[in-house]
Amino acid sequence: MGKLDIHRMTLGDLATNCYLVVDPDDKRAVIIDPAAPSTELTRACDTHSIEYILLTHAHADHIGGVASIQQQTGSPVCLHQDDLELYADPVANLSQFTGAEVALPGIDRILADDDEIRLGESVLRVRHTPGHTPGSIILVTTDVAFTGDTLFAGSIGRTDLPGGSHAQMLTSLDTKVKNLAPGTVIYPGHGPETDIEREIRTNPFLQ
Ligand SMILES: [Zn+2]
Ligand SMILES: [Zn+2]
Repeated sequence: MGKLDIHRMTLGDLATNCYLVVDPDDKRAVIIDPAAPSTELTRACDTHSIEYILLTHAHADHIGGVASIQQQTGSPVCLHQDDLELYADPVANLSQFTGAEVALPGIDRILADDDEIRLGESVLRVRHTPGHTPGSIILVTTDVAFTGDTLFAGSIGRTDLPGGSHAQMLTSLDTKVKNLAPGTVIYPGHGPETDIEREIRTNPFLQ
C-alpha cells in the first residue's frame, strides 16, 4: 500500500482544516472538508484528479466550499447517513450564521460505518463517531486518521450544538478512537496535527 501525500489548507473564518490527500503514484486525490471557497483549493483541484469530496460532518465551516468544488470537479460528494438532515438545514448546520447563501449540491454517496473509500492502492475506512453531530465520521488508513471535529490535539469537538450528544461522544471516543493503531497520526478538523499515543496520554477526554 503506497503512502499518501497529505496537504493541509486552513480555510474560512473558523480556520477549518481542509485536506488534499494524494496517491503519489498517479495524482489521484480526495478532498476532505472543503471548508470555504479559496484559490488554493481551486488550484489543488485543477492539478489533481479528485475521486471523492469527503465530509467528516455537515457543519457550515466544513461544507462552505462544497458547491464550488463540486461544480469545478464533478466529483461525488460523500456524507454519513445521519448528517443528511443537518446538511439540508441551514439553521441546524449553522450556515445561516456564516452569511454564505450557498445552494449545496446533492449527496452522491451516503456513507456508513466501516465503508471503504478507495484511493489508488490505499483505502480510507469510515468509522462512524456520533457525538459532535449525529453523522460525524473519522477516516482511517493504516497510519493516519482524519478526525474532523471529533478529536483535536488536547481536546474534542463541542457536543452542545444541534444533534450533539456528550454521551455518544464518549462512547465514540472509547470504541472508535482510542483503539486506533499505535503510531496513527491525527489530522483534526481544527488546529495542529497530533498522534494517538500523545492523545491517549494527555487528552483529558480520552482518560
Ligand atoms: Zn463541527
Ligand atoms: Zn469545525
